[in-house]
Amino acid sequence: MTPTVYVAIMLGVIALACAVSIPSLFRKKCRKCGARNGIEARACSRCGEAFPEDD
Ligand SMILES: [Zn+2]
Repeated sequence: MTPTVYVAIMLGVIALACAVSIPSLFRKKCRKCGARNGIEARACSRCGEAFPEDD
């Protein structure tokens, strides 16, 4: 395997990992019921549990 192919594969793996993990950074998961809410949510849309302020 040539180094170029190796680098291309590694970049593909990294890109895939980013594509999978980045959306979760913009979601808040309810600690009570596990529902996913938008990052701007102040409270869970399913059960009403208030989210703690991160900042
Ligand atoms: Zn909830």
